[in-house]
Amino acid sequence: MTTSQIIKDLQQTLPDSRFVLRGAEGYEDLNKAYQSALNVEYSPSCIFLPQSKEEISAFLKHVGPRALSGEAPIAVYGAGCQPLPGCANVQDGITVNLSRLKGVAIEEGHVSIAAGERWGTVYEELGKKGLGVAGGRSAKSGIGGLALEGGLSFHSSRDGFVCDNVINYEVVLASGEIVNANAETNADLWRALRGGGNNFGIVTRFDFPTFQQGPMYGGSVYYFAPSFPQQIQHLVDELQKPDPSRDTHLMISTGYAAMFGPQMMCQSQVYHNHPEENPDVLRPFTSVSPQLDQLNSMRVLSLTEAAKEQAGDSPLIQRSAYFNTTLKADAGILQEAAETYTAGLEPIKPCEGLICSLTLQLHARSLLEASAAKGGNSLGLSPDDGPLVSVLLLTYWSNKSDDAAVLGTMESILESIKSRAAARGQLIPYTYMNYAFASQDPIGSYGAEKKAELQRVSRRYDPQGLFEKGVPGGFKLFT
Ligand SMILES: Cc1cc2nc3c(=O)[nH]c(=O)nc-3n(C[C@H](O)[C@H](O)[C@H](O)COP(=O)(O)OP(=O)(O)OC[C@H]3O[C@@H](n4cnc5c(N)ncnc54)[C@H](O)[C@@H]3O)c2cc1C
Repeated sequence: MTTSQIIKDLQQTLPDSRFVLRGAEGYEDLNKAYQSALNVEYSPSCIFLPQSKEEISAFLKHVGPRALSGEAPIAVYGAGCQPLPGCANVQDGITVNLSRLKGVAIEEGHVSIAAGERWGTVYEELGKKGLGVAGGRSAKSGIGGLALEGGLSFHSSRDGFVCDNVINYEVVLASGEIVNANAETNADLWRALRGGGNNFGIVTRFDFPTFQQGPMYGGSVYYFAPSFPQQIQHLVDELQKPDPSRDTHLMISTGYAAMFGPQMMCQSQVYHNHPEENPDVLRPFTSVSPQLDQLNSMRVLSLTEAAKEQAGDSPLIQRSAYFNTTLKADAGILQEAAETYTAGLEPIKPCEGLICSLTLQLHARSLLEASAAKGGNSLGLSPDDGPLVSVLLLTYWSNKSDDAAVLGTMESILESIKSRAAARGQLIPYTYMNYAFASQDPIGSYGAEKKAELQRVSRRYDPQGLFEKGVPGGFKLFT
């Protein structure tokens, strides 16, 4: 059966307005709404725009068997912010675009967020009531990618990964059944969804606890490469203190963009969850000298404003790719990683539109303790592993003809960083799914035990393997 026949059948039960066929008005705009142009190159036969969980249930009941047989593969799209090619789009299949599932319902002590929302709206709604949530840092970013794959928030040092904070997932399973997964009901599914990606169902709502959230202090400072080793040292010093702050969020980057000239430029993005101006704990980062004063954005700001500023940092629709690894919090190995990165970039600097950075983000021991305290996740990390530093290689470029050079260079830089760290016993076998490229294996990196548990949960809730075989995008459990 062709995809168009499958859609015709579906239109017997669901309104026509839910389907945008390839070539129809509006298709191009919907299929352009990805953060990376690598995803725009997929051209689904149809984009399905459900408006309720019941419509998703009807869709899966009808299309599931055809997806399993390979006639109509499915992709699930939250907000299209993950650059991994094909993770939320599919060639000649049906992309389930969740952007019409809207609603931010604030109840006593928690917020229920529909899968088509973005963090910016969530923060705006909560901000009106003086509340916050441990969600994504970018206003533009979608909910699903973060809440199903890990997720780093402004509050991670206190509250763990974004996924650790999900107290209930409302999920449409492969059978079309709609279930809740939380600590009491379907707890194995709840834990598996915390980091297991799109392998268990289509999540339609995410419930998070809320907390009081007043203004915070934070922003970015920009400076030159000779100061980067010192910033690495400050980062590690903070992490290795006997009592590191749980109220900070620290990210430091070194990067290249032709508009800044041939040298590397550096950025520290630092936040403290209190309105005090330039608190002592941030001073080693804010006082870096010399810096580009005109770009300094440090100020007292709301969570909504902080997320808006983060969204502004990503260039619009370019080719982009992420790669990542995790290292121990050791200044020597992080400095070596920065040097490997800087030297490795040389051959691709002439590529048009190249903007790239190596970003170091903290996994404080308190973050890993919060994961454990909140019921555990799929990621295979333990507080004994910490403190850790996530190393993200983020790259934007303009032309398809440069894909092989850019991606090949990033792969070889990453391998070199990892092998040097492994040789010094500083490599942690954990790859963050959100920041992983196709050549990486985040689920394998969770460890054999976690992977086997995820496979067991998949067999229980999706015995025929619809989300393994019929939803080919993203990182799969049995490969
Ligand atoms: C500007 C920007 C800022 C970012 N900021 C952060 C940050 O602060 N912290 C951080 O950790 N990462 C950040 N990232 C990375 C980000 O976490 C990922 O891009 C994230 O996956 C985006 O979520 P999304 O819902 O838009 O994902 P999509 O790209 O739509 O989907 C990603 C994956 O999740 C699956 N998926 C999405 N929703 C659902 C659902 N409801 N049910 C089942 N499967 C689903 C998709 O099938 C796909 O495999 C950022 C990225 C960008 C571009």
